[in-house]
Amino acid sequence: MKDIKEKAYAKINISLDITGCRDDGYHDMMMVMQTVSICDDIKISLNDSGTIRAYSNLRFIPGDDRNLAVRAAKRYLEEIGERVSGLRIDIRKDIPVGAGMGGGSSDAAAVLRGMNRLFDDRLSPDELQKLAENVGSDTAFCVKGGTALAEGRGEILTELPDFPDCFFVVCKPEFSISTPELFKKIDAVPLRHHPDTCGILDALNKGNLKEICRRMYNVFEDVDDRRMRTVAEIKNRLLDFGTLGSIMTGTGSAVFGVFEDKNKAQLAAESLKQDYRFCFTAMPVKKLM
Ligand code: ATP
Repeated sequence: MKDIKEKAYAKINISLDITGCRDDGYHDMMMVMQTVSICDDIKISLNDSGTIRAYSNLRFIPGDDRNLAVRAAKRYLEEIGERVSGLRIDIRKDIPVGAGMGGGSSDAAAVLRGMNRLFDDRLSPDELQKLAENVGSDTAFCVKGGTALAEGRGEILTELPDFPDCFFVVCKPEFSISTPELFKKIDAVPLRHHPDTCGILDALNKGNLKEICRRMYNVFEDVDDRRMRTVAEIKNRLLDFGTLGSIMTGTGSAVFGVFEDKNKAQLAAESLKQDYRFCFTAMPVKKLM
């Protein structure tokens, strides 16, 4: 049987708001999410190893059940009631790890799409999305991707109009930020500001890039943490190059800026690359299925 290949695209947060705390310990979120063209390459191959394992070009990424891609494959097989004699998932990682770009979630979503192709589209896109809810925080969004509003834990999704054409410059400082640690810190202080999510939705409906960018906001940037100084420094550098707007994505540490002009974006990326190893330009990606 032929290998199945899938692209696992990264996501960025155009906005990120926390709207409440829940009894189950999770937070209620409201986020405008966007798929971007930075991606990992996934290859799924059946074998007779008797195991389901992932292999990656990054040695510190686990190959067992701790890998969201492995969990997604097992969950899919459980759901359709099939067994395999062995499965190998190869992951070529280009999405920076611990960046707030949903790398693990996106790998898992790509595995769900790939497994569904392997088993003759036994599940509909909606069923795949439902299955993804319990695999990783952003996996449900990453199944279909595109532009969406994510609420609840991130699993309640509303499709939005395509993001206007533009160029993103994404820059990740050397350090990563632990998601649980950042939630703990944000719970300790009242939130001073919230993004104007309705304004962003309105601007998206009108396809007005400038109005979207003016409203981009991530509540996690308010956390009292010395690492946010680096985040602010990158944002200032992006402003110097004429970004329309710039925020941290998810729980960081990656920061992105939006540009209308490709040359300006490339100049900003080249300049930042001198100080930060992980620096890319990317474009919005439309809905995947
Ligand atoms: P998010 O935006 O969803 O918060 P993130 O960018 O902060 O994600 P990831 O890069 O997805 O974080 O991964 C963080 C942790 O998840 C890593 O420590 C890693 O060991 C684990 N992990 C599990 N599966 C994967 C995977 N397929 N790719 C990358 N990391 C994975």
